[in-house]
Amino acid sequence: MEGVALSAVAREFGTPCYVYSRAALTSAFAGFDAAFGPHPHLICYSVKANPNLAVLDLFARLGSGFDIVSGGELARVLAAGADPGKVVFSGVGKSAEEIGQALDADILSFNIESPAELHRVCQLAEAAGKKARVSLRVNPDVDPQTHPYISTGRKQDKFGVAFEDAFELYREASHLPGLAISGVDCHIGSEITEVRPFLDALDRLLTLVDRLAAGGIAIHHLDLGGGFGIRYRDEQPPSPGAFVRALLERLRGYPQRILLEPGRALVGNAGVLLTRVEYLKPGDERNFAVVDAGMNDLIRPALYEAWHDIRPLRPRAEPPRRYEVVGPVCESADFLGHERDLALQPGDLLAVMSAGAYGMSMSSNYNTRPRPAEVMVDGGRPHLIRTRETAAQLFSLERPLG
Ligand SMILES: *Cc1c(COP(=O)(O)O)cnc(C)c1O
Repeated sequence: MEGVALSAVAREFGTPCYVYSRAALTSAFAGFDAAFGPHPHLICYSVKANPNLAVLDLFARLGSGFDIVSGGELARVLAAGADPGKVVFSGVGKSAEEIGQALDADILSFNIESPAELHRVCQLAEAAGKKARVSLRVNPDVDPQTHPYISTGRKQDKFGVAFEDAFELYREASHLPGLAISGVDCHIGSEITEVRPFLDALDRLLTLVDRLAAGGIAIHHLDLGGGFGIRYRDEQPPSPGAFVRALLERLRGYPQRILLEPGRALVGNAGVLLTRVEYLKPGDERNFAVVDAGMNDLIRPALYEAWHDIRPLRPRAEPPRRYEVVGPVCESADFLGHERDLALQPGDLLAVMSAGAYGMSMSSNYNTRPRPAEVMVDGGRPHLIRTRETAAQLFSLERPLG
């Protein structure tokens, strides 16, 4: 990775270990940012994809804003030195406390997901003597044809307000004293590898923007959400630049600032999970390669049947065998890859590819397994950006009855 041997990273920091490339993160960001040219825009990195402070700090320095979904993520981006004026707050369940935190920070916009939330934000803003900037997350009812768990913009999904109700709700919001309407927002799903669903969603949003303009309600920004797919296996997603150019084409004549909320597309291909083979367990039906990373470290295969390439750091000359690559966790769903043809010996190091997004951020301590270390490679040097947890830390908050 860049100028660093991953085997040296494994030696120095142990396994399992997440490793990210600063150069890859930087170039992914530039791919989106530069494609806008002079059109006013803001990339709001979706923090939940990978919230490590070093990642947030890097993006903040590149000029990124942030899409957050909790008070915890707000605390993180502020700790990383982000400009609160570049933060948008999404999510269906914002608590009064979280809304208060965001009002204090004076964020760019609340992405409102229901009428009840709109009224709560208004009340809290009024009580604080403030005006909350809001966008309604409109559900454009387009189907991005991905896994149902990662599709968010269809009618049956829990997110956003129905397209048909949006105009009335904007009208209502425009009369509420604690609110200032800033934009229109949508987010249709994740791992979308075509431009089409984004253009369909954009078309619907633009009809709403036109109607609002005719009704005297000005919209200052259009937030088109995230969900830009990457290559895990053989997907052929458009490049970030191609996504952006297609959107700009449709946006001719609309001067609004464009916000995007990419998560996976900024970090997914910039990271790997390093793991070591503990045991080989040949069998009549299947051969197992038991590795030291499990579903608690990387849950995507178990949760979404996601496919990650698994590559040996040093390929062996022997003929490959077909393996189930599994972790040490006591669940049959604990696998990293099915039916992988690999030539392996115990002790070999493997890189689970494209693990920079929703890897560490979805990890858990199931089976009292300390979470992995995280390392960022910068040119010739690996930097530890999160220390490996210890078992003692995992139960340090617990108290016996005594
Ligand atoms: C998760 C999420 C994103 C980022 O999704 P990716 O697929 O990682 O790009 C953006 N916006 C919202 C509202 C989200 O919930």
